[in-house]
Parts: sequence; structure tokens; C-alpha cells
Amino acid sequence: MESDKMNPKVTIDLAKLRHNARVMTEKCNEYGIAIAGVTKVFGGRPEIAQAMIDGGIQYLADSRVENLKKMKDLSLPKILLRLPMISRVDDVVKYCDISLNSEVETIIALSQAAEKQHKTHKIILMVDLGDLREGIFDSQALKLALDEIKNLKGIKVVGIGTNLTCYGGVIPDEENLGRLIAYASEIEAVLGTKLEIISGGNSSSIYMVQEGRMLEEVNLLRLGEAIVLGTESAYGNVIPGTHQDIFQLEAEIIEIKEKPSIPIGKIGMDAFGNKPSFEDKGVRKRAILAVGKQDIGTHAIRPVNVNVIILGGSSDHLIVDITDCDMQHQIGSTLTFDLTYGALLSLMTSEYIYKQMNDTKPRP
Ligand SMILES: *Cc1c(COP(=O)(O)O)cnc(C)c1O
Repeated sequence: MESDKMNPKVTIDLAKLRHNARVMTEKCNEYGIAIAGVTKVFGGRPEIAQAMIDGGIQYLADSRVENLKKMKDLSLPKILLRLPMISRVDDVVKYCDISLNSEVETIIALSQAAEKQHKTHKIILMVDLGDLREGIFDSQALKLALDEIKNLKGIKVVGIGTNLTCYGGVIPDEENLGRLIAYASEIEAVLGTKLEIISGGNSSSIYMVQEGRMLEEVNLLRLGEAIVLGTESAYGNVIPGTHQDIFQLEAEIIEIKEKPSIPIGKIGMDAFGNKPSFEDKGVRKRAILAVGKQDIGTHAIRPVNVNVIILGGSSDHLIVDITDCDMQHQIGSTLTFDLTYGALLSLMTSEYIYKQMNDTKPRP
């Protein structure tokens, strides 16, 4: 295939992705917790989402309506993670089964859009437990909101959710998730029904499941990073039994030369307005790769070969020191990198990066 030879590229191992999804769903299902597989980091590409489905996830979730639209033919219920834009409620109702909400105005608009489409749109009310991103902030506000939405015809309040460790870095625990459960009871009292969904967060909540500490009322987690990178995000730990190298960057060498490690001349600003500093290691063998900050942003990546040292880069170039590599590199050969969440997000949304899916095992 032509695109197999195209660089730079992100390679995606679908068999490993299925495995990670399987490990996470089995672990969580053991505690009565369903998994919404979060697809935003790979732009909702259906072939990749399918691997998560094959691994056993129970919902698909994405922050963008466009991505959920791309996945419209996949069979699982779809959750919109970012609060809907009021200007887009028609598409939200059309392409999403459930959306996360905190604004009465938007919920009223969703209800009208749903009635127009002869549908009932399900919503999860978001409460803010202190991380200070989205969510209704206290009991009083929750009560006022419920009074305004409880009789709407086009929507159904099916659950409550919260998001932590995103803006404020607040880690989920028994205390803050305890407040989530208390809010859930308040909603149930007003609506006179039991909530189907109590969603206790994202990949930062996994450590509580691992330690057997997750509150038993919580029955849904929305997991991106834990599945895609095999890491939990409260403490940054690797999740045992998962792969960390499902997504990798391969970039091609366009120059190899021996050069001194300190630039020659008066030092001003680099391409990004920072004043660089250098350590004198003498003459080193350097390679330039055809990938740059336009693709990766300023996020961290890690060479798979530990003897490759990243020196820096500019918009379109990544400069590495390959002096200590035992492998013989040449013009046109590639180097491989493991990715952090931010780097993966940038790369998967860059149109200059080719995406190559590999499947080492047959689909189950
Ligand atoms: C992105 C997102 C998630 C997934 O977060 P991970 O840390 O990748 O698991 C969950 N919930 C919401 C609301 C999100 O925006």
C-alpha cells in the first residue's frame, strides 16, 4: 500500500488496542462499572473505535459532534462529552444519544430540537466537585435547574456525572465522589425515578477501581487515556497488563551530519522566541527528522531507542543526537517514538501525518 511508505506517520496497533480495551472493561465490569470508550484523541476514526468495541466497551464517547457523526454506523450508544453548543443542538440530537449538560438554556433547546425530530434525547447532568471545569456548582443550583427541566418533553435526565483532574488537577476520592452520590439522590428525589447512570469520571478515577475503593453507586467511567496509552491520569502510573505503545510516531531522516553541540555566533532567539542554552559535548552526529512542532505541538515524545537524544526542533524539523546509537542510520530511514496524550492528540489531528493501522491478530 502506498500510504505504508508515507512519512511521517502514526502507526496504530489495533490488536493491542483491543487488548487494552478488554483489560479495562473486564476490570471495571467486575465492579459493576460500564465503560464509555473515549475516541477524541484519535478524531473518532471508526476503524480505531471498532477495535475498542471489539475489546468490550459499552458506549462510544467523544467531545466533538463531528467525530460522533463519523461513527454513526457503529452500533453502540454515543455520548457527547463536551457541553453542547446551543447553536448545534439539532446535530447533537441527530448524532448523539446522550449528552453531558450543565446549562438549562441549552437543555431547553435540546428538548425542542428532540421534539422536532420526534426523539427523546438523554442527558447526564454534570456537577462540579471542585475541579472548576464544567458542572453545576451546588445543591441550590441543581434544584433550580431540575425545576426548570423536569417537565420538558424532549429530554430525559438519565444520569449524573462529574469531571475531575482536567483543569484544577483535583484527584477523585471518597469525599468528592461521595458528594456526587449525594447529588444523585437529590435528583432522584425530585424526579421520582432512579438514575440509570452515575458517571464517576475519567482515567483519573481508575486508581480507585484498582484499589477496590470506587464507590459502589458509580456505574460508568469515561476512559480515553487508560485505554489508548495504558496509563491512569491521577498519578501517571502505568496500568498493569496494558500496552503503552499502541500509537507510535515514525519520522524520516532528511539530514545526518557531524556538527559541534554549541551554535557558532551570537545567540538570539530560536524559532519560538525563546533564548536557547546548550551544553558542550564536542562534535556529535546529528539527524534532522521531517516532523515538527506544527505536528507534535510542544508535547513530549520519547524515542523508542534510548540512545537517541532529542535536541530540539522548529515548526517542521526535529533534531536528534544519534552519536550513541549502535544502529546504522541513513538518509531515508526512520526513527520511532512513543507518545504522550498531548502529542498523540496533535499528531492524530494533523493532516500532514499519515495514519497506518496494523492488525497483528485476526479480529475476534
Ligand atoms: C476527554 C474526556 C474524558 C476522557 O478523559 P481521559 O482522561 O482520556 O480518560 C472523559 N470525560 C470528559 C468529559 C472528557 O472531556
